[in-house]
Amino acid sequence: MAISPKNQKILWANAAGCCSFLNCGIRLTQSNENNTFYVFGEMAHICGEKEGANRYNQYQSDKERDDYKNLILLCPTHHSVIDKIENEKEYDVDLLHQMKASHEKSIANALASIQIQSKYELANKIYPLMLRNYECFINYGPKSELARRNPQSSNHKLWLTERLATVVPNNRKMYALLENNLGLFDGNEQAVIEKFFIHVRGYEAWVKEEVSYEGIVRFPGEFEVLIKKLSNASTK
Ligand SMILES: [Zn+2]
Ligand SMILES: [Zn+2]
Repeated sequence: MAISPKNQKILWANAAGCCSFLNCGIRLTQSNENNTFYVFGEMAHICGEKEGANRYNQYQSDKERDDYKNLILLCPTHHSVIDKIENEKEYDVDLLHQMKASHEKSIANALASIQIQSKYELANKIYPLMLRNYECFINYGPKSELARRNPQSSNHKLWLTERLATVVPNNRKMYALLENNLGLFDGNEQAVIEKFFIHVRGYEAWVKEEVSYEGIVRFPGEFEVLIKKLSNASTK
């Protein structure tokens, strides 16, 4: 069996495109000086994929084996470490589940504990995340130079992984920050933020393969204007 696009996307987005092995965290898409891009993340099976593989569980169905719940995103080095036969006891099923959970938790909670006092301060936190997403879209998205020069190549795969490794995790951070502090904004501002929320929910539906990328409600320009304005005001 093969891992479905839905399970692949959930895994990549939740791990923010980084190795989940304890204290590794290496980013799994990289470019060299010639602007050649590599995607080297490996979707490793927690309970082994084939009979005889480490941590193989004969009671799992093929579907369970290739489900997000049984996968952990790793760099090639750590994938080979956990699959070495002599390491099977050390890297058992429980430990791999723990590593995966704590990596995903650290991504999800990266900004959650911050105390926010004002909407200006909040905009300051959001602005760099929004810019990073924008750069990602400009550099790798369907309208990028890269896509125009090379529409059929590995660039498509790169744009896919960048959306999962950068855009979706940043969206989730911005969403959580805004949702937890929505009371700092007035009614008009909240209406703009709600448009951004709709965009983010569309992205989440795309991760779960419920809508195509073209089906995502576009990023609202008013939201960028609002965040930029508040962020500028905070630094004056
Ligand atoms: Zn493996
Ligand atoms: Zn690693």
